Amino acid sequence: MTPQKEDYLKVIIELGGDKDLINNKLIGQALSVTAASVTEMSTKLLKDGYIIHVPYQGVQLSEKGLKVANQMIRKHRLWETFLANHLGFTWDEVHDLAEKLEHVSSNVLIDRLDEFLGFPTSDPHGGLIPDREGRTMDKDSLPLQELAEGDGFFILEVDDDAEFLKYLSEKNIRLDQYYRVDKMEAFEGPVYFRDEKGNEYQVSYKAAAKLLVEKQ
Ligand SMILES: [Zn+2]
Repeated sequence: MTPQKEDYLKVIIELGGDKDLINNKLIGQALSVTAASVTEMSTKLLKDGYIIHVPYQGVQLSEKGLKVANQMIRKHRLWETFLANHLGFTWDEVHDLAEKLEHVSSNVLIDRLDEFLGFPTSDPHGGLIPDREGRTMDKDSLPLQELAEGDGFFILEVDDDAEFLKYLSEKNIRLDQYYRVDKMEAFEGPVYFRDEKGNEYQVSYKAAAKLLVEKQ
C-alpha cells in the first residue's frame, strides 16, 4: 500500500468515516487536493475493498479499510509519544516527523515500540492510541467552551495541528494539569482559567472549542 493510500484512509477515519458516510468535498479539503484526485483515489480504494461507496452521499471505511486506518493512527501516535517523551521534541514538532515515520514502520517495529513505551493509551496531545487489535479506551470529553464559571477540568485532548499546539505551548497550557474556569466572557469572548498555583491563563473562544476536557 502506498503512503498516499494510507493517508487517505487515515483522513477518512479522522473525519468520522468509521461510522458515517463522508463526502468527497470534505476529504479533498482535509488533504488539500482537488475533487478529481479524490475521485481517482476513491476508485482505487473501492476496487481494493478498503472503502464502501454510496452514490451522491460519500464513502465509508470497510472492515479491511478500518483495520489499516487504525493501524496508521497507532503508528502515528506511538511515534509522537516516543519523540516527545524520549527525544525531547515539543508538541508542535512531533506531528510532521510522525507523518513520515508512520509510513516506513512495520507492524513488528511498532509492536516493539509500543512495548518499549509501556503500552501507553494516549499520545502527547491526548489522542487515544489504538492497541494491536485497533481498540481504544472510551472517555467522556467535551469542549472547554461548554463548561461554566467555577468548573474544574483536565485537558484530555487537543487538536493535532502544529500551529494550535504551538499556540498552547507558548501559553504554557498542558495536559495532566488541573485547572478551574475563572470567567467565560459573553458573546464568544475569551475563556479565563487558572491552575492550582494560581497562575492565570486565557484562550480565545475558538481555541476553547478545540480543547477537549474532562469536567471534574
Ligand atoms: Zn500528529
